[in-house]
Amino acid sequence: MSKFKLLPNQGDTLDPRGLLSRYILALGLILLLIVSSHLAAVSTVSNIKRSNEVISESANQKARVARIQSFAEMAAKLRVEASSDRINAEINELERVHKMLVATARHSTALREPYLQGGRGPALDPVMRKFIADARIVAALETRSEDAQAALQRIRIASNRILPAALQEANEAHQHDAKNHSNDLTAVQNVTFVLALLVLLVEAVFIFIPAHYAVRRAIDQLSAKTQNLSDAHQQVEQRNEELEQLRATAEHDSLHDSLTGLANRRSFEREIERLSAEAHETGGSVTVLHIDLDRFKEINDALGHAAGDYVLRHVGDVLRDTAAGDDFVARIGGDEFVIVRSGQRDRRELEAVATRVIELLSQPIRYHGELCQFGASVGIGVGIACESGSSIDPSRLIANADIALYRAKEMGRGRFEFFSETLRREVEEYKTLSDELAMALRREEFFPVYQPQFDAVTGRICGVEALARWRHPERGEVSPGVFIPIAERLRYMGLIDQAIFEKSIEDLETWDTLGLDVPTLSLNISSARLRDPNLAAFLTSNAHPQGRLVFEVVETMFSDRFDDSARHALDLFEELDVKVEIDDFGTGHASLLSLLSLNPSRLKIARELVAPLPHSPSHMKLVAAICEIASSLGIAVTAEGVETEEQRELLTKLGCDRFQGFLFARPMPAEAFVELVSKTNGTQALSA
Ligand code: C2E
Ligand code: MG
Ligand code: MG
Repeated sequence: MSKFKLLPNQGDTLDPRGLLSRYILALGLILLLIVSSHLAAVSTVSNIKRSNEVISESANQKARVARIQSFAEMAAKLRVEASSDRINAEINELERVHKMLVATARHSTALREPYLQGGRGPALDPVMRKFIADARIVAALETRSEDAQAALQRIRIASNRILPAALQEANEAHQHDAKNHSNDLTAVQNVTFVLALLVLLVEAVFIFIPAHYAVRRAIDQLSAKTQNLSDAHQQVEQRNEELEQLRATAEHDSLHDSLTGLANRRSFEREIERLSAEAHETGGSVTVLHIDLDRFKEINDALGHAAGDYVLRHVGDVLRDTAAGDDFVARIGGDEFVIVRSGQRDRRELEAVATRVIELLSQPIRYHGELCQFGASVGIGVGIACESGSSIDPSRLIANADIALYRAKEMGRGRFEFFSETLRREVEEYKTLSDELAMALRREEFFPVYQPQFDAVTGRICGVEALARWRHPERGEVSPGVFIPIAERLRYMGLIDQAIFEKSIEDLETWDTLGLDVPTLSLNISSARLRDPNLAAFLTSNAHPQGRLVFEVVETMFSDRFDDSARHALDLFEELDVKVEIDDFGTGHASLLSLLSLNPSRLKIARELVAPLPHSPSHMKLVAAICEIASSLGIAVTAEGVETEEQRELLTKLGCDRFQGFLFARPMPAEAFVELVSKTNGTQALSA
């Protein structure tokens, strides 16, 4: 319950709405003061007025007394009755006024004395009553009567001696009384004035000052609230600005790559959509150059992610510098970038951009003293909107550039490719085969065919090379030229080699049991298989034909790097009496020194070098040189891909002691090979 308090305590907040009751109280007090002062004044004034009337009446009494005496004297003189209407009226008036004055005197201390008690002379009231009674006697009787004479005599005495003094005293008393009333009025006015001052003081202390403070406090609170509100408003505005900035940063971040500062994939997709729509309007074109770094993973693995980041930033800078003003450059994946150009469809111009990018990105850079050697492949997709009124499908355009890039990578990296429909079909087929390859391994669809090798002198079969084939459920027999690149990419080559290895060893064992004379079995071995730690374990734990097993390694396998694992495998081969031959010799870039360190038992001159013989003098010279070096190093030479008699004769002359080629026999299934060996070499059982 709220209590009404006149003075608020320190710290109390007076509700300005409560002020109304105080103002009403103040007004009430002032009103009360005015009304009471007015009533007091009115009553005093009326008293004064009455006093004045009384004074005048009191003064008139003297005259009436005189008039009554003179009436009485006149009647006595004329010896007539004094009674007349006039004297009676005078007496009545004298009596009425006297009674009225006495009634007034009874309530006034100042008048009581002259009227009722007697002051300087006898009291007026009994004297006047006597006079009136005498006057009535005089007026009622014959003036000659004794009573009338006596009454007249008393009248004379009273009106001449007693009454004037008594009336004078009464009159003075009335004047004194009037003065008292006037003093009362002054006193009332003074009291009212003092009271008014007091009320005002009280109101000032208890109402106006607290009200003033309350109003001031309310105003202060209001201005504080206004200040707070404006501060809050400012804060809200500031927060809004911050939010706006955050939103802008978030939007920028969501569309940019933080590492390179280039646009990101999301932004790229938006841009492609926008440019495609624009091209549709104008009938223009949009080109996407999809750039993928070569050997970036190696930098990351070898030098760490900081080096990788450094390279990516460098690539970002290079692309920014290479791109034209209107080009859009983005990083859309780990080491994938794009340059998008609109309106440009001149193939040579686009080639120039791609060539420049590849050239600049093939230049090595240094990171903390370490050389970072990488490169770039570029796939180019061009979307043209005007043809047959069709529009560009942005996602298709991106996919096309991707396909072209895929091909560029397949074709050996550090190059660019334009997208074409033929390319799409090839790549799609490539992808389908990739999917099928994994299943092929599980379904054991890989098997060896055999191509015999012939002794240059005797013409006998002196060995056989196992060549892998894929028995595809729909496509039939698929050759290694098709599946090996895919298998290498998918890292399945080691598994395929293992499968072929196991099957051909099995076949060799069968041939041995059949008594066929197959002196050596050559197996092609991939780089993955050579470096596979399981190979050593497999060879050591599984029986293999001692001294008859040959691994063909391609020259290119050693031109890249010849590491410890390869060295270790080769040492093991030597230990296990497994021979090593260098296949496709003359196509790679291996130095002779590194080839010597392999300690090969044989070189196989590549088919590519044999094919142009004997018509190409340069090939003639090259093959002759190879044979000469091999002979000087004591290494035997096989010529592969021999297709003509001329080639056979020539190569025999140059020193090749073994031949392999369609001239002699094509690669064939195991059964056919059994037949051929039986025919050519006979069986040991037969020869025995
Ligand atoms: P390669 O080891 O040099 O095998 C010889 C290739 O030349 C075979 O092709 C064979 O069919 C072909 N050829 C032989 N004589 C002639 C000829 O007179 N004229 C022509 N035009 N070609 C001839 P294929 O079977 O297609 O094998 C291609 C390559 O695939 C092989 O070359 C070898 O490097 C690789 N390869 C085959 N099988 C395997 C395998 O099981 N493992 C590994 N790692 N590689 C294999
Ligand atoms: Mg081979
Ligand atoms: Mg070969």
